Amino acid sequence: MSEPTKVDPSYIKSLTADQINQYLQRKDCERPCEACGHSDWLLDAWKGHIVFLSSNLPYITEAFMITLPLTCSFCGNMRQLNATRVARDIKDWEAEHGQE
Ligand SMILES: [Zn+2]
Repeated sequence: MSEPTKVDPSYIKSLTADQINQYLQRKDCERPCEACGHSDWLLDAWKGHIVFLSSNLPYITEAFMITLPLTCSFCGNMRQLNATRVARDIKDWEAEHGQE
């Protein structure tokens, strides 16, 4: 098992739709919706920022997990990706390849 990933939440907040869409394409993670079979996924945004969700951990009150919701444009089904994992990968990829 690898070490837990740590990323500054302000870096997660700074991620753009372009960066996330490039990540989704690199990882081939826009597979068809398990509920309806369509393949058009939406990123939600609010006031110019991508919407991330956070949940407190029930056993460590000061800790939380940040997720990136993807919404199926056809049926509304939602998937959640671990936003810290996504951000870490984007940061590492851009350090190696530069920003597109
Ligand atoms: Zn769907």
